[in-house]
Amino acid sequence: MSVIVLVEHAQGVFKKKSQEAVQYAARIAAATGTTVTAVALGTVSNEEMQTLGAYGANKVLHVADARLDAFSSRAYTRAVVTAAQQDGGKVIVCLHDTTGKAVAPRVAARMGAGMAAGAIANPDMSNGFTVKKNVFSGKAFAHVSINSEVKVITLTPNTFGVTKGEGSATVEILSVPFEDKDFGVKVVEVSKATGAVPLSEAELVVSGGRGLKGPENWGLIENLADALGAATACSRPVADSHWRPHHEHVGQTGGTIRPNLYIAAGISGAIQHLAGVNGSKTIVVINKDPEAPFFKAADYGVLGDVFEVLPRLTEAVKKFKASH
Ligand SMILES: Cc1cc2nc3c(=O)[nH]c(=O)nc-3n(C[C@H](O)[C@H](O)[C@H](O)COP(=O)(O)OP(=O)(O)OC[C@H]3O[C@@H](n4cnc5c(N)ncnc54)[C@H](O)[C@@H]3O)c2cc1C
Repeated sequence: MSVIVLVEHAQGVFKKKSQEAVQYAARIAAATGTTVTAVALGTVSNEEMQTLGAYGANKVLHVADARLDAFSSRAYTRAVVTAAQQDGGKVIVCLHDTTGKAVAPRVAARMGAGMAAGAIANPDMSNGFTVKKNVFSGKAFAHVSINSEVKVITLTPNTFGVTKGEGSATVEILSVPFEDKDFGVKVVEVSKATGAVPLSEAELVVSGGRGLKGPENWGLIENLADALGAATACSRPVADSHWRPHHEHVGQTGGTIRPNLYIAAGISGAIQHLAGVNGSKTIVVINKDPEAPFFKAADYGVLGDVFEVLPRLTEAVKKFKASH
């Protein structure tokens, strides 16, 4: 018996959210007296896979088929199901991201498993197996009880953060009986997000909304982000209006982030926006409307015009950094 966890990597380097998923799986394994088996797909080195041991993986099953370097929902599903069947996986953990949202329901269907999507806490196993998740864009919680023998969970990224421990995982090759139809969808082009700090991993984020008035003013956001060493994000209408690329959009229909500091400039704080950022440790809101709902979720609020506040804040950060 084991807890299976699907891990994701970018060009052979595991993402922080996958280390977090391994650690989550390790807590379930510890509570149920089982072990953690990670499933790694595509081109990734043995050394890199062994590092998952420091996050609680006992073993990594490697499906070393280079076709898996491009995402295929069918092929990933077959790999995870094969791993779970071979390893006696009773709990299967994926991330609540684009990959996990596509793969986990298929895995659950193939295995006749109950599923909880978007977990935000360790499962409560005191009386059965209950998973806590956000509903209504974070306005309420639901506690979902899974009664099937095999259980599938997707974990909301950045729920816990990651602490590196000790240890090294063993690596075994897993052979999966793929069929041609598993690779029926071909990725023809990949355009990578550029930027010094990837948004999903950033500890500091400066984000802009419609209050910035147009893409020509984004230098104000970028200057503050540069001064802080932060990533940039935006509200959905900003991305929909093509002021900023879609991968910067956070919220219910965008990314979920949990940085140490989230600075929201000219963003109203609609519930759908908050759904992606309300796990941030400290939220600073800059808005000229004292009634803006974001102030209710803020740790610090600056009532003012972004065109005045942002340049002054940037100068203050630069001055502070120069003197420390
Ligand atoms: C199903 C659904 C899903 C959605 N998903 C998302 C999502 O994932 N992410 C998301 O962000 N939104 C999402 N939305 C949209 C959401 O409801 C809001 O419409 C959106 O977040 C508003 O964006 P905004 O705050 O940038 O713009 P606005 O609502 O236009 O707010 C602009 C804010 O800037 C302030 N402002 C204006 N000028 C200045 C100035 N000079 N200085 C300071 N402050 C100023 C205003 O007071 C206002 O508070 C979704 C909506 C739906 C229905």
